[in-house]
Amino acid sequence: MKPLIAANWKMHKTTREALKFVDHFKVCRTKDREVLICAPFTDLPDLCLALSRCDIKLGAQNMHYRDKGAMTGEISAPMIKPYVDYVILGHSERRSFESDKVVNKKVLSALKHGIKPVMCVGETLAERRKKQHKRKIRKQVLEGLKKVKDVSKVVIAYEPLWAIGSGKTASPEQAEEMHAYIRHVLKEKYGKKKADSVRIIYGGSVKAGNIKQLMKKENINGVLVGGASLSAAKFKKIIDY
Ligand code: PEP
Repeated sequence: MKPLIAANWKMHKTTREALKFVDHFKVCRTKDREVLICAPFTDLPDLCLALSRCDIKLGAQNMHYRDKGAMTGEISAPMIKPYVDYVILGHSERRSFESDKVVNKKVLSALKHGIKPVMCVGETLAERRKKQHKRKIRKQVLEGLKKVKDVSKVVIAYEPLWAIGSGKTASPEQAEEMHAYIRHVLKEKYGKKKADSVRIIYGGSVKAGNIKQLMKKENINGVLVGGASLSAAKFKKIIDY
């Protein structure tokens, strides 16, 4: 399967800054990998136009699970659908106020509207130290995928909380162990063929200096990059790992 190299800009880049960034990617060749930028909502319409000329996909970073309603400040799948192919759901920076149940409703809504969810899962350092990391990931994966039939449209991002924005990457071996475990959980639920079609990507302080080793691992099918995706030069190096 084609690896997915995804940027998560978080709350960075005005539309002017976003357009300046993608100017560097006009002649970007991405045939053997899929490149994705998950940008703030306000950047989506302009970026969608700018990226239509190059081979980079666009994603949002969140959405509500309802299509519409009295939800001040929220945004729904039908609202982002004209602009995006993907949406990040259940990022750890949101999970303190978003339950697995809510993440599941969002995953189902995204799929209903033809948007591919990038569902994030990950354990804290304390959970890892207590050897509860696999149990936590299993629960997040299974609850997040409740009632999901076509799992091949879902991307799972394994992002250990202790590695996000901390400069500490999980070692390729640590990441592979968890990716293989996620694949195993998917196999139990969906069978081997479907489980093998799911892209499981790694996130947590990925940069040009560590992506190569991570991508050598069998079950690492791409990366989700926060900090290092904010600079066009750094992100380019990551894409060309
Ligand atoms: C993220 O928040 O999705 C992330 C992976 O961030 P960073 O690369 O900065 O650790």
